Amino acid sequence: MKADIKEILFNEVKIEQRVLELGRQISADYQGKDLVLVGILKGGVPFLADLIRAIDLPLEYDLMAVSSYGASTKSSGTVKIIKDLDAGIESRDVIIVEDIVDTGLTLQYLQENLKSRRPNSIKIATMLDKPSQRKMVIHPDYNGFEIPNVFVVGYGLDFAGKYRNLPFIGVLKEEVYS
Ligand code: 5GP
Repeated sequence: MKADIKEILFNEVKIEQRVLELGRQISADYQGKDLVLVGILKGGVPFLADLIRAIDLPLEYDLMAVSSYGASTKSSGTVKIIKDLDAGIESRDVIIVEDIVDTGLTLQYLQENLKSRRPNSIKIATMLDKPSQRKMVIHPDYNGFEIPNVFVVGYGLDFAGKYRNLPFIGVLKEEVYS
């Protein structure tokens, strides 16, 4: 798998340190709140798993799945809920946990959808932010790292379902997907 990677952007140590920082920030911001983290399957799972353990507060987490890019490296522009939350979020303090914000289409849709369920508050945590590709006005409240317009894999991020288990975040060699 490593042979398909052109460049490692963030190694395990860097990721761990940044997640701990985000966990500390969230712990400070959500004291006394009814915190629910909504992890987005499948890419958000490693980040969610690490982030919840870096937050020193009582919390719950739930999972949602939305349609993804499939075996393409470009967004299709349409978002569909494949798996909804198990529980309601009314009057609760929600943080959506995503792997990456690219065009912002996914989060724009998710944010509007979850807002209609009348939570007390709703914020966004993402491991990566690719602001150069944005089509929607989405500003992540908690952001691991900002990256340029490159296609990355690892730490939950896939290409055609693979590479999610890489412990680092790296740029895939172009010949792998072209
Ligand atoms: P958006 O709706 O913001 O355009 O895209 C969000 C989703 O696109 C992410 O959850 C992720 O599944 C996928 N995505 C966007 N950029 C990348 C990337 O560089 N690598 C991978 N593996 N997926 C990406």
